[in-house]
Amino acid sequence: MVMGKAAIFTEPFHFEITELPPPPVEPGGILIKITSAGICGSDLHYWRGDLKPIIPKGKQGPVIMGHEMAGIVDTLGQGISTDSMGRPLKEGDRVVYTYFQPCRRCYICMRGELNNCPSRFDFRASVEEYPYCSGGFSDYYYLRPGHFVFKVPDELPEEAVAGVNCAVSQVIYGLHQSGMRMGDTVVIQGAGGLGINATAAAKEMGAGQVIVVDGLANRLELASNCGADETIDLSNFVTAESRVEKVRELTGGWGADVVVEVVGFPQVVPEGLEMLRKGGTYVEIGNIWPNSSVSLDISKILWGVTRIVPTVHYDPYILPVALDFLVRAKEKYPILDVMSHKFPLEQIEQAFKQAEWSGKDKGTSVTRALLVP
Ligand SMILES: [Zn+2]
Ligand SMILES: [Zn+2]
Repeated sequence: MVMGKAAIFTEPFHFEITELPPPPVEPGGILIKITSAGICGSDLHYWRGDLKPIIPKGKQGPVIMGHEMAGIVDTLGQGISTDSMGRPLKEGDRVVYTYFQPCRRCYICMRGELNNCPSRFDFRASVEEYPYCSGGFSDYYYLRPGHFVFKVPDELPEEAVAGVNCAVSQVIYGLHQSGMRMGDTVVIQGAGGLGINATAAAKEMGAGQVIVVDGLANRLELASNCGADETIDLSNFVTAESRVEKVRELTGGWGADVVVEVVGFPQVVPEGLEMLRKGGTYVEIGNIWPNSSVSLDISKILWGVTRIVPTVHYDPYILPVALDFLVRAKEKYPILDVMSHKFPLEQIEQAFKQAEWSGKDKGTSVTRALLVP
């Protein structure tokens, strides 16, 4: 039997490379041969042990991390011949897919909120339970029957597609949910993988001005090249007050229409809220782990008529939207540079360490690290 390599997460800061059998493919299922997987900020949280339990449902046990990934169709189950858009699908085709699977049989799915389905997880399950390969840091990944899957346009290189099902889709969905309109000013807090994509996506959606806030010069430079009209460097604007003041200055004193939080530290939230105009919208994406506590003056939310839009996962239709966006964006911006580092799967520990250091050591700054089986 052909075995597949997998990096098993055994305990914080530790992986073991092992071999797993690919699962038998059910009618309607698809076995994916992974071509690349990105290390997302949430993977770093699990790696450090910040987030528990790592397995959302089912047997707790060793697990394959990684959810931001792309691959090719290795085996098509019986009865499946098209992708989720009805386009012919065959073995060998490049595809992306949601890393979660809404059950479509619960109250929340019935309300049309597929991204909020409480049973939506199928990734990061125990490697001891079928279908074993439920994570991205592996040779194989299994899509159960009914999974949302989309063919990848030929013109997109591999570095472009690995981030589609998390970083790119997440920020496009967040901007959609914000109700952003043509001409709006959008502030992006954080110029990592999500922030860079959010910058280009906001421009593509018609933002009049995009302002990006970060502390690393190379990330801000990439943000500028990817459409940011203005950048605010934490090394020059060291206090929250000075950054808020700068945003007010850039918006004629009014404040931004939309602020998107993709830093993942709760301390930035009060500052981001202060950057909004009255009636503005705060899109919260980054603070995913428990006890992300921060103190907020609710009267400011009330009198500021501030909308806070928490955005978790996305509607599956966002995936083909994200692919089309990348086809257009790569002609205009060096958006593919987001994938700044590549490591073979065997070097997963080094890849995680380097991604972790990125905020601390400016010499080895990683915007996004890719693992290639
Ligand atoms: Zn992610
Ligand atoms: Zn459901």
